[in-house]
Amino acid sequence: MDLKLDNISPGELEELKRSVFMTTLEQVKAWASSNSIWPMTFGLACCAIEMMGTGGAHYDLDRFGTIFRNSPRQSDCMIVSGTVTKKMAPVLRRLYDQMPEPKWVIAMGSCATAGGPYVKSYSVVKGVDQIVPVDVYIPGCPPNPAALIYGINKLREKIRYEAKTGKKVI
Ligand code: SF4
Repeated sequence: MDLKLDNISPGELEELKRSVFMTTLEQVKAWASSNSIWPMTFGLACCAIEMMGTGGAHYDLDRFGTIFRNSPRQSDCMIVSGTVTKKMAPVLRRLYDQMPEPKWVIAMGSCATAGGPYVKSYSVVKGVDQIVPVDVYIPGCPPNPAALIYGINKLREKIRYEAKTGKKVI
C-alpha cells in the first residue's frame, strides 16, 4: 500500500505518530535478545566471586532478564571472570563453540582482559580475546558487581545499536 503523507493535517500526523510503530524484525530480535541475556557461568578465579555476588539477592541481576545457565547450549553470553590458563584455553574455546548464535563475550577483570597480575606467567593467556572474540571489557581487579552490571548494560546497548545501524561495533 502506498502511504501518502502530503495531504494530512498536522493533527492527523500527530495521531499517526502516536498510534503507528515502525521497526524491523532485526530490531525486535535485538530488543528481545538484549533484554534476556543468559550468560554461561565461566568463573575461573577471584573475579567469579563478584560475578556470583551480582547474581545474588542484593544486586539482583534477574531484574535485567539476565539469568545464569549451566549449559552452553542454553547460553548466548559468556562472562569470562578470572584467570585464563593455557590449559583451560581449549576448554573455553570448545564451550564457546557449543553456544548457539548469536552469542557475545564479556571479559570481566584484568586477568580475562590482559592477564592481570599474572601477565608474566608462562601459564597464563594474556587476554581471553586471543581465544574468543570479546564484545565488552570490564577493567578492575576485581570489578565489583556494579561494574559488571554496567558492562552488561553496555552489551545490551551494543546489541540494539548493531541491529539498528547494521554496523558491527568492535
Ligand atoms: S583480575 Fe584480580 S580479582 Fe580478577 S581473577 Fe585476576 S587476580 Fe583475581
